[in-house]
Amino acid sequence: MVEWHRATVEAIHDETATARTLALRVEDWRGQLSGQHLDLRVTAPDGYQASREYSIASGASTDPDALVEVSVEELDDGEVSPYLVRGIEVGDMIEVRGPVGGYFVWKPEQAEPIQLIAGGSGVVPLMSMLRTHAGAGHPTPMRLLYSVRAPEFVFYTEELRRLAEKSAAHVMVDYAFTRQAPQGADRSVGRLSRTEVEMLTVSPELGPTTYVCGPNAFVEQIAGWLVELGHPASRVRTERFGGV
Ligand SMILES: Cc1cc2nc3c(=O)[nH]c(=O)nc-3n(C[C@H](O)[C@H](O)[C@H](O)COP(=O)(O)OP(=O)(O)OC[C@H]3O[C@@H](n4cnc5c(N)ncnc54)[C@H](O)[C@@H]3O)c2cc1C
Repeated sequence: MVEWHRATVEAIHDETATARTLALRVEDWRGQLSGQHLDLRVTAPDGYQASREYSIASGASTDPDALVEVSVEELDDGEVSPYLVRGIEVGDMIEVRGPVGGYFVWKPEQAEPIQLIAGGSGVVPLMSMLRTHAGAGHPTPMRLLYSVRAPEFVFYTEELRRLAEKSAAHVMVDYAFTRQAPQGADRSVGRLSRTEVEMLTVSPELGPTTYVCGPNAFVEQIAGWLVELGHPASRVRTERFGGV
């Protein structure tokens, strides 16, 4: 049984109007791989406890003193996420357990091209991969296709822009806005189509591993198309965040 660790909220910043990143100092943390998640538990003054899973946004680390970041999107009717986005404050204590997961991870020793496909807050573990890739000065291409409602809901906007600009040859970021696009965008709004997934991702001939993360239905749809397009199922790794 993996134990719970005490964690202090060291810093908080807004990602969007409905999402925040919490930087946690976790006691006896042993680091994480890119793509792993943790269980996060909050306790109310009356002793009531609730826990949820959150992907780790920070890059891979073996430093027990490094802060561990999670980015949480508020669900209107949710129990835990509204508290994490609007209630919790710097200095508050919570508990975390993990890191969890050995399948939905990217390791710098992987030499094949990497395609990342995010739906909404599903970008979080993919950001960890991009951060590790950038930190290692990794030579293989890493491409992100990010489906999101509108520009104001994009997480890590500036960092993604800088990453794509700085390592133009290795990192590409494509956005698919589902409800509202920036002025002058050449793509009309709407959900990703199979043709777009084919056009905007690393083709199967190049032997990529593709990581898909987001709401359940998004992941099912995209992963199904990737296999139809010729990607071996074993090279399509998925992480489902729940919901529809
Ligand atoms: C491995 C893993 C990693 C995750 N990482 C993140 C992350 O990095 N950031 C993040 O914001 N969330 C992440 N999630 C989702 C997170 O665990 C919670 O499910 C989410 O924050 C909702 O919790 P809640 O208590 O607010 O809502 P709940 O009270 O649990 O649920 C409220 C309602 O929302 C629905 N619902 C639950 N989850 C979702 C969802 N993801 N999308 C749409 N509807 C949903 C429920 O079915 C219910 O109807 C992850 C989930 C998993 C399984």
